[in-house]
Amino acid sequence: MPKRITKAERLLRQDVINTCLEMNSLRINQGTSGNVSARWKDGLLVTPSGIPYKELLPEDIVFMKFDGSFQAKEGLKPSSEWRFHVDIMRERSDVGAIVHTHSMYATTIAIKGLDIPAVHYMIAAAGGPTIRCAPYATFGTAELSEYAVEALEGRHACILRHHGVIACGKNLSRALWLAGEVETLAKQFHLSMLLGKPSILPDDEIERVVAKFGTYGPQQRPK
Ligand code: 13P
Ligand code: ZN
Repeated sequence: MPKRITKAERLLRQDVINTCLEMNSLRINQGTSGNVSARWKDGLLVTPSGIPYKELLPEDIVFMKFDGSFQAKEGLKPSSEWRFHVDIMRERSDVGAIVHTHSMYATTIAIKGLDIPAVHYMIAAAGGPTIRCAPYATFGTAELSEYAVEALEGRHACILRHHGVIACGKNLSRALWLAGEVETLAKQFHLSMLLGKPSILPDDEIERVVAKFGTYGPQQRPK
């Protein structure tokens, strides 16, 4: 059980919950599938396993350290996918938040075991010319985490075979935004394949767009 929660920590915990609610209301996730984390102090705050998002309270969010130890409210345990949340944050100092979904089109592409190619320039939001599909491993395992970290090399997102999506960002709103973009790209890839073989943008064009995206993304409204 977390000892004392400061105002700043409580706000971040609420932000984790809001992100979960939003991923479901955006229809890029369903039920208690998926999970969300945000970097905090010398660890991260992650959703508890299997609790309906509508029921979550800030104190239900679990604090985890990079050695796998955690502080949770009695009766709650961290997301079954805590390993990939911990491993990605440990390996990637650029990642401040992770959104994992089971969104429909991205998962459909992942069922086929395909990488999402550059059918649209927005793929650059994920950091490169492909969104890689990590090989299948049982949910919650160290093996799945290893595959995810590998598929995320040089990228901010990947898809997981027969499973779903991992989207990373410097903060929660950025990670959620990217999870939505991955789903849109997957849908465009799926629909374009129905019309025949889609044409793919060349790598050097995606490189240019990645460079432009250094300053692109959801912005704070000027006050
Ligand atoms: P949790 O409820 O344990 O986070 O699991 C959901 C999930 O998506 C597993 O891959
Ligand atoms: Zn999952």
